[in-house]
Amino acid sequence: MALPKRRKSHAKVRTRRQQWRAQPVASTTCPNCSVVMVPHRACLNCGHYNGRAVLPPRSKNTARPDSE
Ligand SMILES: [Zn+2]
Repeated sequence: MALPKRRKSHAKVRTRRQQWRAQPVASTTCPNCSVVMVPHRACLNCGHYNGRAVLPPRSKNTARPDSE
């Protein structure tokens, strides 16, 4: 069986393993209700996407600033 000629340095191993580190989840704020949301998805709080309502808004929430 083939064997590596030299052992890999700590730096070599660490740079290789860094590529598979988990990336932080992307997030934006909703322009309608300014709640933190996933980009390119309809807002789960107010149901708006691209300036119009595409989902029925959640009946039970506390994060909406324009609610009574
Ligand atoms: Zn929203």
